[in-house]
Amino acid sequence: CGIVGYVGPRDSQAVLLSGLARLEYRGYDSAGIAVIDGAGELGMRKRAGKLQVLRDDLAASPLADGTTGIGHTRWATHGGPTDANAHPHLADDDKLAVIHNGIIENFAELKDELAADGFTFRSETDTEVAAVLLGREYAASGDLITAFRAVVKRLEGAFTLLAMHRDQPGLVVGARRNSPLVIGLGEGENFLGSDVAAFVEHTRNALAIGQDEIVAITPAGVEVTDFDGAPVETSPFEVVWDA
Ligand code: GLU
Repeated sequence: CGIVGYVGPRDSQAVLLSGLARLEYRGYDSAGIAVIDGAGELGMRKRAGKLQVLRDDLAASPLADGTTGIGHTRWATHGGPTDANAHPHLADDDKLAVIHNGIIENFAELKDELAADGFTFRSETDTEVAAVLLGREYAASGDLITAFRAVVKRLEGAFTLLAMHRDQPGLVVGARRNSPLVIGLGEGENFLGSDVAAFVEHTRNALAIGQDEIVAITPAGVEVTDFDGAPVETSPFEVVWDA
């Protein structure tokens, strides 16, 4: 439902939580974040309920600070509003994290394929199937962008999909089909959001992402391609916002 991604010098947890708060108006039933910390470990926390439930949980038992992160508020479509079904979903021995808005229509056949390959699942969501598929592709190529490209080409339906991997800190990848995703451009930091509310407190410089496009953000820059990896033109715009 609500999506935010961050790479840069700041503590990503604060950026993610305030971005998710600004996306609360869309409605949601669960919330979660994942961050890659200074030691290169991936930490994740997710809870059914209001953002405050997640905040209280993090206050009671903090995640290590990290400067690469993704955050999600979920509006359940596949699987009830439980902690396990909340996003992020992890794969590749909990080294990669995925968040998703929308519905993956061919998730059942992909799940059967992965189950036949020996993979197991911890949720009832369509999203976790994309995460596990990404884990399998990452094991094959060892490169997040290559793996992500292979995954999005196999998904049918509507998705804004974000992913990051512990072994490639400082990188968040995203893709969109029939569901919105925008880039926020900062100085030495960059943002992704399901809408500009996710990052408007940090930057007014934005880039629209077209249908069936992939974006990779690092602190140094952004790269937008089609699903085959060919560069595409982007449209910069300035966010007009009355706070
Ligand atoms: N279909 C996904 C789920 O049920 C994502 C829902 C959303 O857009 O928040 O977990």
